[in-house]
Amino acid sequence: MQGNINLTSAAFLFGSAVHVRQSFWYFMPMRIYVDFDDVLCETARHLTGLARDMFGRRVAYEEIAVFDLRQAFALSASEIDDLMEHAHRTEFLAGISPAPGGVETVRALADRGHELTVVTGRPAASHDGSNAWLRKHGLEHLELLHVDKYGRAGPEPRGGHPRALDMEEFSTLCFDAAIEDAPAALDLLAPRRECAVIIYDRPWNRQYRTSGNMRRAESWREINEMIGSLVMG
Ligand SMILES: [Mg+2]
Repeated sequence: MQGNINLTSAAFLFGSAVHVRQSFWYFMPMRIYVDFDDVLCETARHLTGLARDMFGRRVAYEEIAVFDLRQAFALSASEIDDLMEHAHRTEFLAGISPAPGGVETVRALADRGHELTVVTGRPAASHDGSNAWLRKHGLEHLELLHVDKYGRAGPEPRGGHPRALDMEEFSTLCFDAAIEDAPAALDLLAPRRECAVIIYDRPWNRQYRTSGNMRRAESWREINEMIGSLVMG
């Protein structure tokens, strides 16, 4: 029974708390889109360290006011290319810390029968490293989809990596809820009125003008509560 929740508008996100016995979860599984960077894990915090080590830029995480890291770290075109090439290496990806409570919450949601898909804007070349991170944290059962969220997919991947989905392919996928942090990706989700979008609060999205299907969460604990209210509301 997938996608059987009547989500006519995101107003339900703000609806009254209706307490239903726990077993109700099992009758209302949801398809949940979970972003990877800065939702599942603390990518930007690690990138601030990388920009410092590689280029001597000292920008605190809280000072990253724009999603464009080239701008945030004041890097040249070649510097941002070098930074991102390094950032997509398996050894760098493996070392990124999970967002507090994220791994546990995702695991619990999957245990309750929800269908979670990691939808990442990382290039397909990072597929093995990204899967290694999921395995390291006991999330290897999650599907990992690469989507060209930012219109910067490179050439066709080699080595059997899956290709990043384009916007047309992405539009065929249905989700009941999505958890995102990046303004450009939030723009892609804004027209999906049937999808409840949870914005993971980050310094670079605080000025984002939310649409009616969006609500902001400051932690995975809040995300868990919001998902719970969607199921029970
Ligand atoms: Mg992200």
